Amino acid sequence: MAKTIAIVNQKGGVGKTTTCVNLAAALKNLGLRVLVCDFDPQANSTSGFGVDKTSSPNIYDVLLNGADPAKAVAATVYGDVLPSSKALAGASIEMIGLERREYQLRESLDQLKARYDYILIDCPPSLELLTLNALCAADTVLVPVQCEYYALEGLSDLLSTIRIVKRSLNPEIALEGVVLTMYDGRTNLSMQVAEEVKRHFPGQVYATVIPRNVRLSEAPSHGKPVCAYDALSRGAEAYDQLARELVEHNRYAVTRV
Ligand code: ADP
Ligand code: MG
Repeated sequence: MAKTIAIVNQKGGVGKTTTCVNLAAALKNLGLRVLVCDFDPQANSTSGFGVDKTSSPNIYDVLLNGADPAKAVAATVYGDVLPSSKALAGASIEMIGLERREYQLRESLDQLKARYDYILIDCPPSLELLTLNALCAADTVLVPVQCEYYALEGLSDLLSTIRIVKRSLNPEIALEGVVLTMYDGRTNLSMQVAEEVKRHFPGQVYATVIPRNVRLSEAPSHGKPVCAYDALSRGAEAYDQLARELVEHNRYAVTRV
């Protein structure tokens, strides 16, 4: 049965989608069965796998039009993706009237869990109903943190949201880990931020740090994860390392929040 990991940070531009696409492809290269559930209406993970953003059925059709989740999955050579759609932006409002509205995504993904080892959910930059659905569907939360000023800003809100979800909606949820992204070893700032994040999350920050690497920002425009775009780049190497570290951690129990 798949382990479901939500990739969450309510800040935009911190590397959620980049981590989702490239970690998924790296896990697949390790021989694991992986599904990316694109849960951001911007659908950048969808196009990052070379899948058309306007394809249908998509996650919106699954949640609100009763589409079969298995039929919505697009299989690519880099991994499987449950595509998003800009219609998802309206889904939070449309779901308000539903019973068990926080569990809609969970109920859909439950139907796919037997087919995969990992399901990664790429979340939108907010802590509202879509992200709440992702937190209810997830076993764990992976938090990308950009090595920039204000990196820690908002993380206490994120942690308190996770605690509330744990108390009231999903008692099993845990923190998978924190990954430092866009690290630039030439700047003191990156090093200082990395130290600060490690102090804040002792034992929960991956040893693998994702460097700032232009290949990572170019790959999406080719509709490929970085390992297929430039396998020898530092970005590809870093996500391969992160995948190995994550798999290794999962041989042991993960930290509880
Ligand atoms: P989010 O999903 O959190 O909004 P993205 O993954 O879309 O963030 O990243 C924001 C922007 O930064 C994108 O243009 C992406 O290509 C770029 N980017 C992300 N990670 C890196 C990195 N390690 N090196 C260089 N560019 C990156
Ligand atoms: Mg994104």
